[in-house]
Amino acid sequence: MTVPGGDLVVRNIGRLTTWRRPVIQDAAVIIRAGIVEWTGESRELPAQVRDAPEIDAGGAAVLPGFVDCHTHAVWAGTRRDDFVGRLSGEAYSPAGIMSTVAATRAATDDELRATAAERLGAMHRHGTTTVEVKSGYGLTAHDECRILDVVAALAGETDAIVESTYLGAHVVPADAARSAYVDEVIATLPEAKRRGARWCDVFCDEGAFTVDEARRILTAARDEDFGLRIHAEQLTNSGGAALAAELACVSADHLDHVTTEDARALAAAGVVAVLVPVASLYTRSQRWGHAQLLSDAGCTLAVATDCNPGTAWCESMPYAVQLACLGMGLPVEVALRAATEGGARALRRDDVGHLGRGARGDLVVLDGDHEADLVGHLGASGINRTVVAGRPLG
Ligand SMILES: [Zn+2]
Repeated sequence: MTVPGGDLVVRNIGRLTTWRRPVIQDAAVIIRAGIVEWTGESRELPAQVRDAPEIDAGGAAVLPGFVDCHTHAVWAGTRRDDFVGRLSGEAYSPAGIMSTVAATRAATDDELRATAAERLGAMHRHGTTTVEVKSGYGLTAHDECRILDVVAALAGETDAIVESTYLGAHVVPADAARSAYVDEVIATLPEAKRRGARWCDVFCDEGAFTVDEARRILTAARDEDFGLRIHAEQLTNSGGAALAAELACVSADHLDHVTTEDARALAAAGVVAVLVPVASLYTRSQRWGHAQLLSDAGCTLAVATDCNPGTAWCESMPYAVQLACLGMGLPVEVALRAATEGGARALRRDDVGHLGRGARGDLVVLDGDHEADLVGHLGASGINRTVVAGRPLG
C-alpha cells in the first residue's frame, strides 16, 4: 500500500538517535509527506516549518521505530497448558504447534483478523512501526492462504509496514505424510506469492523439517522469487545455519545452538542473525551465549519478538531488547540498533530502521530522557508516542 504520510515536526528532543550521525542533543525532526526531511539541533530548525503539526517531546529521547522482523501474529486459541507444563519441568516440543493449528483452522477469517489486529495494535503501542508476520498455523494450502489473506488485510488497514512470510513448512502436520506435505508446501508457493507473501521461511530442526527438506523447499522458493528465511539451531544443532549460508538466506533466526563455524559461515554469506531472546527465555533453554558468538563472528544482528502463542507470547520490542541486554549481554546501543536497523536489514529495507534523510517518518518518543532507560526500567512501557509515516498513533 502506498502511504502518502503526514507532515510533522517533533521538537524538544533530549537525545535523537538516527544511526546516520552521532546522537543529537536538544534536537528536532521534520517529516514531510511521511518522509524524514531534516534532523538537527533545535536552534537550527528552519523557520518555514512553523505551521506544520507538532509534537513537543518534552526533552525525551527519540529512536527510529522498531522493526520486528520475526512474528507469528496470526493465530487462534491458547497454549496455556504447554506453558504451565513447562513450569513443572516439561521440555518444549514443536508438537505443541498442532494445537494452535487446530484452533486456527477452526477460527473464522474475521476472528483471525480481529485478534491479529489487536496484537498489531499492541505492537504499535510498544513502538513497532514495521512488522513481519508469518503464516504457519494453517498447514494446508487452503488454511495457509487464509492466513496470508489475513496478513494482507492487516497490511491494508495500517500505515505501518507489514511484511508477509509464507511458513507452510512450520511443522509436518500430524494428519499428513511427510514427503507429500513437503510437495504440498512447494506446490503452494505460487499461490502464496499471489496472496502477498514476499518471504518463504522453514523451521529446520529436530521435530520440524530436516536440512534436506528445508533445502528442497527454500530452493523452490528461490526459483519463485521469494526472499529466504530459516528458523535454525533453536532446539538442537541440526545444520540449518550452514544451509542458510549455503543458500545465502536473508536471515537465519533463533540460532541458540549455533557453533563458531556456523557463525563464521553466516557472516561470510551476509546472512542476518535474528535473535529472539523472548523465545530463549520462554522455552527455558537458558541459552544466551550465541548472541556474543554471532557478534564476534561479524554477523549483522537483529532482535525480534518472535510473537507467537507457544514460545514467545510477547508483542513488546522493548522487552525483547531488555532480554537481549540483560540475558544475552549485548550493550544497549548494539541491542537497539539490532531492533531497528538490524531488523530492517533482515527485511532488506533501507527506508526504515533509521532516521536519516529520506527514511520513512517512523519513530518512537520514549518516556525517559535517555534510551538506556528503556532497557533499565523493567516492567514499564517506556514508550510515550509512536509515529508512523509522520502520523502519531493513538
Ligand atoms: Zn518463529
